[in-house]
Order: sequence, then C-alpha cells, then structure tokens
Amino acid sequence: MSLERPVPAGEAGAGVSGAGHNGVVQNARKNDAGGRLGAPYHAAAGRLSAGRGVAAMASVDVVDSGQQRTQNDLFAWWDQNARDLPWRFGRATPWGVLVSEVMSQQTQMSRVVPYWLAWMAVWPDAASLAHADTAEVITAWGRLGYPRRALRLQECARVVAQRYGNELPHAYEELLALPGIGDYTASAVMSFAFGGRIAVIDTNIRRVLSRVFLGIESHGGASTKPERELAERVLPRDVRASKTWNQSVMELGAIVCTAKNPLCEQCPLAGSCAFLAAGRPGLGERRTRPRQRFQGTNRQVRGLVLNALRNLGAEEPPQNTEDKDAGEPGKTTGKTSVTTLSRDQVEALWNDHVQLDLCIASLDEDGLIEILPDRSLRLPQRFNGAASQ
Ligand code: SF4
Repeated sequence: MSLERPVPAGEAGAGVSGAGHNGVVQNARKNDAGGRLGAPYHAAAGRLSAGRGVAAMASVDVVDSGQQRTQNDLFAWWDQNARDLPWRFGRATPWGVLVSEVMSQQTQMSRVVPYWLAWMAVWPDAASLAHADTAEVITAWGRLGYPRRALRLQECARVVAQRYGNELPHAYEELLALPGIGDYTASAVMSFAFGGRIAVIDTNIRRVLSRVFLGIESHGGASTKPERELAERVLPRDVRASKTWNQSVMELGAIVCTAKNPLCEQCPLAGSCAFLAAGRPGLGERRTRPRQRFQGTNRQVRGLVLNALRNLGAEEPPQNTEDKDAGEPGKTTGKTSVTTLSRDQVEALWNDHVQLDLCIASLDEDGLIEILPDRSLRLPQRFNGAASQ
C-alpha cells in the first residue's frame, strides 16, 4: 500500500472529558475546521488503473474541477451534522481514539458510546488496561460482540505501556505492529488522533467514494487496489482538511449514503454524485456472502457461555436465549473474577453438548475462559495473550 507518511500534529490529548459538551463541541469544530473550507486542493491529474469490474473507471477522471465543490459541500454538511461522539473534536487522547476504533469494528458507533465512556472511566490509558483483571475486561466488553477484540486490546495496551511508555507511537508502521491493529485502525489513529495526512479506508468510505466519483457500487469484501488508489487520489493535500475529509466521508457513509437505502434526497453530494446521476445501478449489490443466521450457531453458544460467566452472582440465572451476551456497559463488579460456573450449570445452557464442548474448547483456546479440573468454568484470572483476531 502506497502511503504518504503523515506528519504528527499532536492535535489530540485533551483527555477524556464529557464536560461542557455543547460549547466544547462548537468550539472544537471551529478549531477543527480552521481554514478548511477554503483550503487549497491541488488536483492530481490521473486516471484509475483498470481492475476487476471497473472497466468503466479507466475513462473516469476522479479528480476534476468539481472536486473542490464536493469537498466544500461535504465539509459544510459535516459542520452541521457530525454526531457528537465523545472521542471526536479533540476530546479524547490518542489511546481513547484507538479504543473507540477497536470497539467500533463491526459495531455501530452509536452503540459503542456507553461502553467507551464506561471503559475509559475505568481504564483511561494503556497502562491501566494492561494491569486490569482480564475477567473484568471481558465483562466490561459486554454486548459489543467478538470478545477476542477485548483481549487483543489488552495485549496492545501491554505493549504500549511497556515499550512506548504508555503513549501511542506516532508512526504508522509502529501502530500497525501493535497487537490487533490493522491498516484501518492504524490509519484512523494517524488521521483522527494525530492529525496526519493519510487515506483512511473502511467500508463506508469505500462505498461513498465509489459511488460519488466512479458512479458504481462498492461490492464489499477486501479493498481493491483501484479503491485504495481512489482514496489516496481524492484525499485533500491540506493536512487538516484531510482529517475532516476522512471523518466526513465516513460519517456520510454511516448515516446518509448507507449500503441499502442511501438517502440521496438528503445528501449534500447529490448534485455531484456520479452514482445518483447514473440511476444508482446495482444499488445494494454485495460480493460478500449473506450474513449467517445467529440462531444455533457456535457464535450463539459461545455468547451464552460468556454471558453466563459474566452474570454469575446476579439474581437471575442466565437464560438460554438468542442474546449473545448480556453484560452491561462497563460492568466491572469483580464478582466474576472469583466465581465459577459448574459443569451442571454449563450443560443447562445448551442441549447439544457436543457443540457446547466444541465451543467451550474454542473459548478456552482463545483465552476467553479457563476450564478447571472439575470441568467448571471461569473467566480468565490473568491475561494470557492467547487471543487472536
Ligand atoms: S447522492 Fe446518494 S448515492 Fe450519492 S453519495 Fe449521496 S446518498 Fe450516496
């Protein structure tokens, strides 16, 4: 991946604070937007290289005279419509931004907010998370799903605390080398936390850019070389504008230019969107296979076991329901660190004991539970670093 290395701007670092939201946000937005509406954009001439399913791209100038207007329209929309998420507008530390990005993977940002607030109140930095009881970490992850991410985040915290003195490194390559951190998260931290100029590429951004500039649907799956080239070509050269561009394109994809039902009539880019002009061909088409139903899957069974462990000590016993894990945001009572689930209780969770034992084995292998000699279960008492994404 060809990346222009960002220049750290030290923009974040105000700490985690929820105080004075409205006033803070307004001021922060002004600061964030400083000079951006009139920021010079030096269009890079070029055409996309031909690639899979993008024959039409070759004749499309992705950067043209309309680029500046697109940027201006988008930034004006961002100023008025950006969601007031607590890790935005310079209110979170770089570590807080990283936590928000890890939590937001495969989970809607609006759902992440209460978990992030509770999490950061207990573990505001890498060092505090590094020393946390792993059972507490898994419990606090609650309904965010894919709990291996919690273990990987704790593993990441240990490396940051020990190798980098509790401060996230400012280099993309060093971020990428951290446990559980991929290209998207490293790029997002570089742009959103450090204010560096770097193309951030996630599903929402790919979809919006493909529609607006190429007039075709993005089909999901792994990002293609033409998509990455497009993201880099249209990224504003102005450093501060590049951050706003990444955030606003992503936001547009999350709340307006959605996958199945884009709200084109409300879209600030309707006047310049090639996809809309072409009649929205292939709207909603996906390359990836449909989502697997949840009921009866190993994921459901794993969630039931974790849910039961998280809720030990609660008045109501865990139910055999579809709910994959019913922890409350930031629930860190400590009860689960000293309590076990007996074999009888485990077997009551799921009738198919072959599937149940397979799932227990996989949870143990992932480092999310411990199996005691009498086959009772408990959440891990120590971080063992065995989880993987
Ligand atoms: S006009 Fe429609 S398809 Fe184009 S960017 Fe806006 S919401 Fe998406």
